[in-house]
Amino acid sequence: MLTQTDPLLRILAAASRSCPRSIVQQSCAPPARRQWHRSLQTGPVNRSQTPDFAFAFDIDGVLLRSSNPLPHARQALTLLQRLRIPFILLTNGGGRHERDRVAELSRLLSIQISPSMFVQSHTPFADLIDQTDQHDKTKMPLKDKTVLVCGGDGDDCRQVAESYGFTSVVTPADIITSTPTLWPFTSPQSYTTHARPLPHPIYNPSSTSPTHLTISSIFVFADPRDWALDTQLIIDILLSQRGVLGTTRSHSVPTQDHSASNVPLYFSNPDLHWASQYHIPRLGQGGFKAAFMGVWKETHRGIPLEGKTIGKPSQETYAFAEKRLVKHRRELLGTPKGETVGLRKVYMVGDNPLSDIQGGNTYLSPLGSVWNTILVRTGVYNDREIPPHKPTVTVDGVWDAVKWALEREGWPTDEIERQLA
Ligand SMILES: [Mg+2]
Repeated sequence: MLTQTDPLLRILAAASRSCPRSIVQQSCAPPARRQWHRSLQTGPVNRSQTPDFAFAFDIDGVLLRSSNPLPHARQALTLLQRLRIPFILLTNGGGRHERDRVAELSRLLSIQISPSMFVQSHTPFADLIDQTDQHDKTKMPLKDKTVLVCGGDGDDCRQVAESYGFTSVVTPADIITSTPTLWPFTSPQSYTTHARPLPHPIYNPSSTSPTHLTISSIFVFADPRDWALDTQLIIDILLSQRGVLGTTRSHSVPTQDHSASNVPLYFSNPDLHWASQYHIPRLGQGGFKAAFMGVWKETHRGIPLEGKTIGKPSQETYAFAEKRLVKHRRELLGTPKGETVGLRKVYMVGDNPLSDIQGGNTYLSPLGSVWNTILVRTGVYNDREIPPHKPTVTVDGVWDAVKWALEREGWPTDEIERQLA
């Protein structure tokens, strides 16, 4: 709810006092004001006023804290929507369908957000569905092959993967219910509610089946719930003959030449910790990856395994986010394809120097846009630390971040208040 101290309320109230019939009415403003009145309008935007900058916001610690909106988060986003300045939400969270998460965020923040404005840790996996393996003579795209999806609650991540276009998704639940002996310390009963039959049986030496379960890629979509089961299963697949589960390579310990698996392994989130409702940060997917890599190292005599990790601060995730931002900007502002003056600058607003700030600082845009980073004090960072990655600026919260960036772009919020008062 808005209060008398809400900065957005002051701005919009000032606009109402200045232009009682409509804030879009331009005639009530002197020339110096018109830019702001035009910017606040809800109709088509004049090309000459099109903002060439945009925002990307982290969610946890910037907009929300344990599902509770942080001060002025809603107002900051509402102001940008009123000004028709594009923004997206870019989070390392995940494990749920983008549509459901966006609906929840819209409710919590009391603003309208569309899935096209939202990128979570595993969203870039959607870009891999048409990928083909150069060694595969069939040239079958990945979406039509069988992939293993790990992590998340119940069947949520399988359904997310299917929404991306993957047509044959297997989960650890399917495998452990099919073959409980694969990992005898896990009870299959806890998985029966969301397990599905396997597309092909798992290979065993006495098998007479002409086809066997073959995994083409492994995706860790979200934090695994059973680290031990998933660790054993991923290692089994990586050491199998081209992904045929139940087989092993001719040499149980790979040589240097065979250190790389034929089956790609993808992690979606490198964060070692995450802030939960517990008072001490909890291990995240980065913790699982570290544990998995430790087991791999111990069992394979120090031979490194090159798993691919996306999520902030990776180049891949920022490139995907920028594509989403450009597409959303085009939809919002009606700027045509091939526009020569496009997105010039992006402000990444985050609370984590190791993901938000590092990623924004190191991202190299293929479009030539410049990313600036704004570190806020409402999340994991506090002033007692020297941030390992220096932001463009550090401010108290998301409202200050938006205000600072707008003023830097010549859209000063104080000026809005003063001119409209
Ligand atoms: Mg955060």
